[in-house]
Amino acid sequence: MRIEENYPLEKHNTFHLPVKSRWFMEYGDEEELLRILRDEYFQECLSLHIGSGSNLLFIDDYNGIILHSAIKGIKVVKETPEEVFLRIGAAEIWDDVVAYTVAEGWGGLENLSGIPGETGAAAVQNIGAYGTELKDVLESVDAYNQLTFEKKTITNEECLYGYRDSLFKDEQKDPQIITAITLRLQKHPVCTVCYKGLEEELEGKEITPSQVRQAVLTVRSRKLPDPAKLGNAGSFFKNPILPAEKYQRLKERYPEIPSYPLPDGRVKVPAGWLIEQCGFKGKKHGEVGVYDRQALVLVNLGNARGYEIAMVAESIRLAVEERFGILLMPEVKYIG
Ligand SMILES: Cc1cc2nc3c(=O)[nH]c(=O)nc-3n(C[C@H](O)[C@H](O)[C@H](O)COP(=O)(O)OP(=O)(O)OC[C@H]3O[C@@H](n4cnc5c(N)ncnc54)[C@H](O)[C@@H]3O)c2cc1C
Repeated sequence: MRIEENYPLEKHNTFHLPVKSRWFMEYGDEEELLRILRDEYFQECLSLHIGSGSNLLFIDDYNGIILHSAIKGIKVVKETPEEVFLRIGAAEIWDDVVAYTVAEGWGGLENLSGIPGETGAAAVQNIGAYGTELKDVLESVDAYNQLTFEKKTITNEECLYGYRDSLFKDEQKDPQIITAITLRLQKHPVCTVCYKGLEEELEGKEITPSQVRQAVLTVRSRKLPDPAKLGNAGSFFKNPILPAEKYQRLKERYPEIPSYPLPDGRVKVPAGWLIEQCGFKGKKHGEVGVYDRQALVLVNLGNARGYEIAMVAESIRLAVEERFGILLMPEVKYIG
C-alpha cells in the first residue's frame, strides 16, 4: 500500500492542474482496499476514487483522501465457440486492454480505441465513441460498497447504463469501488463502422478489428489534442438530447444543424456545433483555450487554474442557452 501526504496531483489529471491532495492512497489488492475502507480516519474524511483523472476538473486543492487502485490483470474466465469472457483489473489502462483484445483478433472494443483512462473508470462512465458504448460488451462489474464493505458482482442490467451515465454516478446511492470488470467479446468479429470520417478512413481496406482500431486512432489524432502535450479532458460537455418537437423548431431556424436521431424518437445534437455557432471555437481566454479543431474541448494553454476553466465553461453554457435555449451539462466531473 502506498500512502502519501500533501500529494501533487498534476500527473493525475489530464488538465495538468497544479493541485494537491491532503492524502493519496494507492492499494495493490482487495485486502488493502478493505483495510482502508474499514479505517475510522478514512471514514471521517472526504474521499474520491480516481483513475487517470482524464474526466476530472479540480477547482482547487483536494482537502481529503484521493484513492487509487493498482489492481491489474487480464484473464480469460470463460469461452464458448463464439465468445470469450475477459476479467480485467480496474487499474489496467483502457487502451492497453483494447490493443490486447484486437491483437488476439477478438471483436467488440475496436471502436473504443484511444480513449484515455483506466478500466474501472470506463465502466463508471460508460465510455463511448463511433457508435459503440462500453455497455454493449460489458457482462458485469465487481465492486465493493464503500459504506457496507460488501463485495458484489453487478450485472450489466443492474449498472443502469445510459449516455455517459451509470449507477456508479448516482450520488443518491452508496458509493461503489470497482475492482474489476468482465467483458464479452466476439471470436468472429463483425465490426460496426457507421461514422462518416471512419468510413472514409477505411475505404478500400478489409474491415477487421485491427484495421478499425488503426482508423479510429488516426481519426482521433486529427480531431483531439493529446493531453500529454496540451492539457484537456476530452469533451467538456455532453451532447444534448432533445425531444423531437424542440429539435424540429431548431431545424426550422437553423436548417444546417447536424443531428443523430435516437431509436426513442429524440434527437442528439453535437454540443461542439452549438458552441462553434456562438463564436468560441479557437478563442483564448487568458490561459484557457477552446480547441481550434473541436469546440467541445477546453484546453489548458499552460498555467490555467481549475476555476478559470470552470468560468470559461460557464460563459459557454450561458451563450448556448441564450442563443439556442439548450442547457449544456458538463461531461467532466468538477471536484471541490
Ligand atoms: C483526449 C481525451 C479524449 C477522450 N475521449 C473520450 C471518448 O471518446 N469517449 C468517452 O466516453 N470519454 C472520452 N474521454 C473522457 C475520459 O477519457 C473517460 O471518461 C475515461 O473513462 C476516464 O477515465 P479515468 O481513468 O481518467 O477516470 P477519472 O477521470 O479519474 O474518473 C472518472 C470517474 O470515475 C470514477 N472512478 C475512477 N476509478 C474508479 C473505480 N475504480 N471505482 C469507482 N469509481 C471510479 C471517478 O471517481 C470519477 O467519477 C476523453 C478524455 C480525453 C482527455
